[in-house]
Amino acid sequence: MLQQPPAQPGMREDAVDTPALIVDLDAFEANLDHMAGLVAAAGVRLRPHAKTHKSPVVAHLQAARGAVGQCVQKVGEAEVLAWGGVPDILVSNEVVDPAKLARLAALARIARIGLCADDPRGVDAAAAAAADAGVRLRVLVEIDAGGGRCGAAPGPDATALARRIAASPHLIFGGIQAYHGLAQHLRTPEERAAAVGAAVERAGSVVEDLRRHGLACEVVTGAGTGSFALEAASGVFTELQAGSYVFMDADYARNQAPPPFRQALFVLAGVMSAPRPGTAVVDAGHKAVAIDSGLPLVSGRQDVRYVAASDEHGQLALDPGAEPLALGQRLRLVPGHCDPTVDRHDWYVGVRRGRVERLWPVAARGAMA
Ligand code: PLP
Ligand code: MN
Repeated sequence: MLQQPPAQPGMREDAVDTPALIVDLDAFEANLDHMAGLVAAAGVRLRPHAKTHKSPVVAHLQAARGAVGQCVQKVGEAEVLAWGGVPDILVSNEVVDPAKLARLAALARIARIGLCADDPRGVDAAAAAAADAGVRLRVLVEIDAGGGRCGAAPGPDATALARRIAASPHLIFGGIQAYHGLAQHLRTPEERAAAVGAAVERAGSVVEDLRRHGLACEVVTGAGTGSFALEAASGVFTELQAGSYVFMDADYARNQAPPPFRQALFVLAGVMSAPRPGTAVVDAGHKAVAIDSGLPLVSGRQDVRYVAASDEHGQLALDPGAEPLALGQRLRLVPGHCDPTVDRHDWYVGVRRGRVERLWPVAARGAMA
């Protein structure tokens, strides 16, 4: 059930109920603008990933700055965006279950819907669902860009898939996806460049194979926040799928030459206990802030560290001589990983210079099917 919002517009940030998901609107808008400028300068299209924000509102703000559509990972996310008026959605993922494909085909009546395939059985299942619904679905061949997750091998397998899609009257061949997930958090720019260089080569070889078979790749899509500048400059990729850039997180900040965006997402936590000198406990544990990519950082306080998370408690350690924390005091935590942190909250609390300005629901929260 959607919970009551933790704040009202006009309220001071330090009166917001905790834990709460805070968006620093100045930083967030700067990130949107900065990315829009970078992709325009590079001459590529931006199709940001909604797995990060799960919100038609954020999608519309990105579209207003030139984004051509949205990526989603899940059919449920596609539904929330399409019902929220987003006109062009790519499920950047394989969908093979007939029930899910029927939901996607139904959405194709109100939005332009694409999905990925890396197996002929997925292509046939998508064609069957599209035929049943009387629509055409756009299908992209996902190739393994080097990350070793989903994706057909470049070469005959990928070519055969593309030809199978193009031959179906119920499908439209939409191009290829070559997303390299592992490249995003490689720490040095050299490692990222090497990984994406290999992905570019693989994608380029598939584009060339398909051209020889008379199939044009209208779209070559991929890239995340850690690598997008490389794909943008490759001459092979036409669309970028970065998602985390809108909010950023502590793990992306650990990349050397980190992505050029500001930290815009915080979990506001309240101090609920300070039982021993040098320690305090906040009300944001790992049910409020994801810890899969490391513990959160305490924003603006070098002398306080978040050292352990349990379900509903965050243990803080204060350096010797640190200014003590008062009960009820608010602290902004920088999440280790933005996407799953967002998914733990019902509301975004948009704050500008210390005041709550607006509230948005995390509309696709929990959409995991
Ligand atoms: N594209 C795909 C297929 C993804 O799986 C992801 C994230 O995992 C992204 C794009 C966006 O990556 P990021 O949020 O790191 O920018
Ligand atoms: Mn992520």
